[in-house]
This record gives sequence, C-alpha cells and structure tokens, in this order.
Amino acid sequence: MEKEQIKCLIIGSGPAGYTAAIYTSRANLAPVLYEGIEPGGQLTTTTEVDNFPGYPEGVDGNQLMADLRKQAERFGTEIRRGTITKADLSARPFRLTVDGEKEIEAQSIIIATGASARYLGLPSETKFRGQGVSACATCDGFFYRKKDVAVVGGGDTACEEATYLASLCRQVYMIVRKPFLRASQAMQQRVMNTPNIEVLFEYNTVEVLGDDSGVTGVTIRHNDGSERTLDIAGFFLAIGHHPNTELFRDQLELDAEGYIRTEAGTSRTSVEGVFAAGDVQDPHYRQAITAAGSGCVAALDCERFLRR
Ligand code: NDP
Repeated sequence: MEKEQIKCLIIGSGPAGYTAAIYTSRANLAPVLYEGIEPGGQLTTTTEVDNFPGYPEGVDGNQLMADLRKQAERFGTEIRRGTITKADLSARPFRLTVDGEKEIEAQSIIIATGASARYLGLPSETKFRGQGVSACATCDGFFYRKKDVAVVGGGDTACEEATYLASLCRQVYMIVRKPFLRASQAMQQRVMNTPNIEVLFEYNTVEVLGDDSGVTGVTIRHNDGSERTLDIAGFFLAIGHHPNTELFRDQLELDAEGYIRTEAGTSRTSVEGVFAAGDVQDPHYRQAITAAGSGCVAALDCERFLRR
C-alpha cells in the first residue's frame, strides 16, 4: 500500500512545535504536526505565564497554547492527534509509524518532543501522583496553601519551586541528597533568606506516606543511616527533566543526558533533513520563549533544506 507522503513533519505541540508550524505553513511547506501524548506540552500544566513577551498582564498557559495552535491552523498547518511511535531515519524519505499502526513518510522532520519531569521511581511516589505528589509547584502549589510541603532537589528549579511554595505554604522542606545546593548563588540566597524554608542536606527519600485523602508524610534517610518522618501534604519533585528522545536513540547524535545535539547556531541534527527545536535540544534555558525562538530557527533551516 502506498504510504502518505509528508513534506514537512513536525513532532510535538509545545511552543517550539507550534512556532515551527506557523513559519513552515506561511512558507507553503504544508506542514503536518502530530500533537503527541501531551497536546500543548508542558505549558498546559502551568497556570499563569508571566514572562512570555507580548502579555503585559500574563497569560494562562493553556490559553497561550490554544492561541499558538489557532495561529498555526490559520496558515494551514494540519494538526493531528497521535504519537509517533517508531522512526527510521536511515534514509530519505524518513519512515515513521503513528500510534503503532499508520505508516507515513516524510521528506523533512522537525523534532519538538520536549522534555518531561523526572521522578524518583518509588512505588509510593507513583501511587500518590496527582494526590499530593507533583512535579510542578506552579501548577499545584495552590492546593497546599497554609500546609506543609517538601521539595526534592537542590538545583535552580528546586530553589525556585521552594521559594514559590514558601509564599503559599506554612513550611517548606527541601530534601537535598548532597551536603550543598547545586543552584546558582542568587537562588541559594533566596532560599536561605526565606524563613519558612528548611533545607535538609544529605537526605534521600525512602517512602511517601499517605492514605485515602492523599499524601500525609514522607520518610527520609540521612546519609548516616538515621531516618525521620516529615508530616507533609504535598511532595514536589524538582530533580530535573529528561528529554523525550527515546525514539531517536541510536539514530541521532545525543549528548550524555539524551538531548539531541544540534550544530551550533542552527537546528540541524546529525541527520540531514532532521531538525530539532525546543527543550528536546536545550538542557539549559528551557523557557517557552526560547523554545518558540528555536522553533522558528528550525522552520527556516527546514525551508532552506527543502528548497535546495
Ligand atoms: P538540575 O539538574 O540542575 O538539578 C537537579 C537537582 O536534583 C540536583 O540537586 C540533583 O542532585 C537532584 N537530583 C537529581 N536526581 C535526584 C535523585 N534521584 N534524588 C534526589 N535528588 C536528585 O536540574 P534543574 O531542573 O534544577 O535545572 C536544570 C537547568 O535549568 C539548570 O541549568 C538550571 O540552572 C536551569 N534553571 C534555571 C533557572 C533560573 O535561572 N531561573 C530556573 C530553573 C532552572 P545532585 O546535585 O546531587 O546531582
């Protein structure tokens, strides 16, 4: 059976994917965008976005993504539900499978599959996910007003989330596995200057405790072997993200953390005709606006490649 031929395939529907879609559709490249598992990407799990230029009063994350989608559709992007489950980048046209069934072929691909929050991997953590366990303080902090919570991690994200939660909650514990914070000096200062944050150095999480109502506590173990239990209602993970690149492992050059390597100053990957944009290739900045900017770069690179 003849497979569908796509000129420009965009994988992912965060700010990078939609921006690439806006640019490629305006350039008449007839892009087809597959939304993936989380339509709209990570921003749909946040509330207010205050730092996306053009919104002086801030904008709801879901609204921002709905607007970007509408803008991409306005110029003719075909947006489809579905997840790419298999990719063969060994020859052009590239061959891909959607949802394990449908096969398509693409002359060019813009990968904008983003990154996902890391979890510790404890069964009790999985059990209470969404019932007190969260990887997004800005999304869920609201539910823990005037309560006690814990944040795991010692990087910038953990510090940022802890200070944010401290403005809502009664007490915030930071559970840090090393004897120091990895975060920038400025963020460390903010944490140390916030009276209702207590940093617990050299502790690891043993178990998240809870009942039918959700999380009620957490057992942590010091590196000297002693254990203690914290009574908390919210358990927040801030231990980094992992890029969604499983599909491309062994096919594209990735860095040690699994992020797609791109040629400096471009979106070009190690395979000609395949471009990467957004968090999937950016372990450092991870902002909506930088993702959108890199989506634009990928679209322009892709356009040049297709016109050649
Ligand atoms: P990081 O990788 O910087 O930090 C992750 C933290 O989680 C570290 O303290 C790490 O500990 C800890 N950790 C990792 N795995 C585990 C585990 N299994 N158990 C317990 N602790 C664990 O991730 P971030 O998300 O904080 O930051 C990512 C990037 O984004 C950084 O470059 C950061 O600077 C940047 N960023 C910048 C911000 C800003 O400037 N405003 C805000 C947020 C992020 P250990 O130190 O022991 O490895």
